[in-house]
Amino acid sequence: MNHWSRKTGALLTATLFIFYIHTGFAQQASDLIAPEFSHSASKADSPTALSQSTSTKAPLLSPAKEFMVVTAHPLATQAAYQVLESGGSAIDAMVTVQTVLGLVEPQSSGLGGGAFALYYDAAKKTLSSFDGRETAPLAAPSDLFMREDQAIGFFDAVLGGLSVGTPGTVKLLGELHARFGTQSWEKLLLPAIELATKGFEVSPRLAESVQRDAERLKAQAGARAYFFPDDRPLQTGQLLKNPAYAASLSYLAKQGAQAFYKPPMSTAIIDTVRQSSNPGTLSQADFDAYRVIQRKNYCFMFLGYEICTMGPPSSGGLALEQLLGILSFTDLAERNAEDPLAWQLIAEASRRVFADRAKYVADPDFFETPESLVSKTYLKKRSMEITPGKASQQVLPGEAEKSTESNQSASSTLLSGNSPEQTSTSHFVIVDAQGNILSMTSTIENAFGSRLWVNGFLLNNELTDFSFLPKDAQGWIANRVEPGKRPRSSMSPTLVFHQPAANKMKQPYLALGSPGGSRIINFVGHSLIHILLWGDSMQNAFDRPHIINRFGKMELELNTSASNYNKAFQTMGYETAEVDINSGLHGVMFTGNGLLGAADQRREGMAMGR
Ligand code: GLU
Repeated sequence: MNHWSRKTGALLTATLFIFYIHTGFAQQASDLIAPEFSHSASKADSPTALSQSTSTKAPLLSPAKEFMVVTAHPLATQAAYQVLESGGSAIDAMVTVQTVLGLVEPQSSGLGGGAFALYYDAAKKTLSSFDGRETAPLAAPSDLFMREDQAIGFFDAVLGGLSVGTPGTVKLLGELHARFGTQSWEKLLLPAIELATKGFEVSPRLAESVQRDAERLKAQAGARAYFFPDDRPLQTGQLLKNPAYAASLSYLAKQGAQAFYKPPMSTAIIDTVRQSSNPGTLSQADFDAYRVIQRKNYCFMFLGYEICTMGPPSSGGLALEQLLGILSFTDLAERNAEDPLAWQLIAEASRRVFADRAKYVADPDFFETPESLVSKTYLKKRSMEITPGKASQQVLPGEAEKSTESNQSASSTLLSGNSPEQTSTSHFVIVDAQGNILSMTSTIENAFGSRLWVNGFLLNNELTDFSFLPKDAQGWIANRVEPGKRPRSSMSPTLVFHQPAANKMKQPYLALGSPGGSRIINFVGHSLIHILLWGDSMQNAFDRPHIINRFGKMELELNTSASNYNKAFQTMGYETAEVDINSGLHGVMFTGNGLLGAADQRREGMAMGR
């Protein structure tokens, strides 16, 4: 029953005619024309010169026929497996996964954070996109992270109550469960309650994370008491109990998810935020006003596949559509994953994506991302700025046509905000026996979030995903702090469908996503290139060493064969750096033979299906 996946088996993307259609915004018919990929050379499981040298596990498996779950932690995967085995739906299993992850992977996601979820209803053949992102307090000023006209340091903002947004995850769980759940809410919280009560073994990753963050965690009394029992950091393999978390979940089990937003649970959070040494302004009004928003699906065509991911407030949609769209006008299909020139094209496309992302994406209830940024004309123009084999000196945001409905923040006055993101976060995919699919990315932002600990869980620092600077000489920044606004994200829960053949309904093909701050865009985008364009298996795609360029510098994954390209990139004019790049890609592929799960071997994730 335990299905680990390394190879996803034969996969052919014999796509001789490449078609690119944008469906995320209303689009002119004249834009729905195939650009210039001439053909895609695709070989399944081709040998990889650029192979991962740091593999710790080599799972092999056969496909699952009924259901599949992939999460960042074996205990969350196992608990969800049992829900699915007992006939539970993907949404039932989601409730269990998230509550277990909040316990065993507390540094990444939990009750105190926010999330985006894509849900595919197999019976209705419909996709829905849910935004459970945190909101800025209604009392938050746009200069929240400014002191005397200067942006404060990143960790000066992160630590304490100042960066805490109204959490959305619990409401997201509650609302999705109310709509699509089949088993009782109370029952679905039991696995986490039991683990918290009886204890679970601390994983190497949690122990390392505690060790690495010792100074910051120890500065907060609650976090110190939990992560440093007897004043010693948690050790790998140590049995850890969290009775406060068990009590919080037991309360929510009886009272329902909405109880999280009312006293006494809300007041415990508010008091912690307000009484911290770096206080925030969260209040009951924020909890009363909080809502989960069903967003318009963000879908576009690439290589004959329909790719659906998260639109604003995530930058994932625009970024992935631009990345793949710009590359559609290059000869990337003629190249392969071992060709440094292929990575140079991807790098230059990515630099343009990041320039536009910084300027043009924010909460859609406050700012409208201009549609022209994904028009065929625009993407082609951006591709023509790229010189093969030569680094662009400078990459600026493109000029968007002014959107007719744009609000006071006219595009010409928007500046590129600086909001650094750090890597915590968790992505999971669940497919149930009915074929319903959940692809969800969940976060508390930084590792251990704000470090504030309330009733057994950590509070997020999501507000640091806003631009610290509200404006500068040229005007307002789209992603500035505003009351009730959601900070820009990069989280990209993704679902890929086969292009519907005549008279046929579209069929799911891939479900994937990753943590990793703004590199999520590259992790997901590059995986799509490996799988859809170059015909790699999902596990191979995830295992490939990362080569990433967001802001000019070529980042090569440390201790991998990516370093073989160092010289080639330097010759092209790039500054290079070998860095630890910690993706956590998790996904499921739908094949003719069943479901194949894949978990990033850089983390502790596990796929399990039947
Ligand atoms: N807060 C980030 C975002 O929403 C995610 C952080 C991470 O992946 O580590 O984009």
